[in-house]
Amino acid sequence: MLNLLFPKECLVCSRTGLWLCKTCQKRLYPTLPNCYICKKLSNDFKTHSQCLKKDSFESVITFWKYNECSKKLIHNFKYKNRFQIANFIFSLFENKLKNINFKKSLLIPLPSHRKKTLERGFNPTELICELIVQKTNAEINKNLIFKKQENLSQAKLSYEKRKENVKNIFEINTDVIAKINKYDNIIIVDDIITTGATISEISKEIKKKLNREISLKGICLFQGTFRKKKTK
Ligand SMILES: [Zn+2]
Ligand SMILES: [Zn+2]
Repeated sequence: MLNLLFPKECLVCSRTGLWLCKTCQKRLYPTLPNCYICKKLSNDFKTHSQCLKKDSFESVITFWKYNECSKKLIHNFKYKNRFQIANFIFSLFENKLKNINFKKSLLIPLPSHRKKTLERGFNPTELICELIVQKTNAEINKNLIFKKQENLSQAKLSYEKRKENVKNIFEINTDVIAKINKYDNIIIVDDIITTGATISEISKEIKKKLNREISLKGICLFQGTFRKKKTK
């Protein structure tokens, strides 16, 4: 009934039927497997050994490139038709999950600050994580990482400022970390990855608190490109 009263419209071209019509879906460009640090090709999205630093993730899987089309989806997901769009986005990447090994994996949604979650009424990455957990053998934990400080949106900042902007804003829950021994992988789930500054910060914090080796991975829906400002 609701669908008849408010038929779905393509967020890009307004054609009725789907949140993203078949034509506009073709403008969601899948990412080729690449290393999130140098962005060059790499099997299974593994970080090249020569790119690995102490605070790097082993791999960060992304599904699509971040562009105008993805922007419309994400914006609508976060601020308007959250549940419907979450399900729609999930339906677009569900078949890609088959290629990912979730055995003994713990999914951690990238936390947003408590105030922001309250304002919005939900944490978007949590919703995505819950959908993944329903269809895989991964488990989820929402209390491992907290964002203790609000920060500016990374989108408008330069590369160096982005690093600074996420410094010391996360806190690891020590009670939870003591109980994650049964997992081989921690997979952080986020919507967009661009410079990887947030992920490095999280990795640093987890490694500080964890007294054993664990493989840290990421799943981010969209991969953004970062244009360094030309210096004259
Ligand atoms: Zn369309
Ligand atoms: Zn690389």
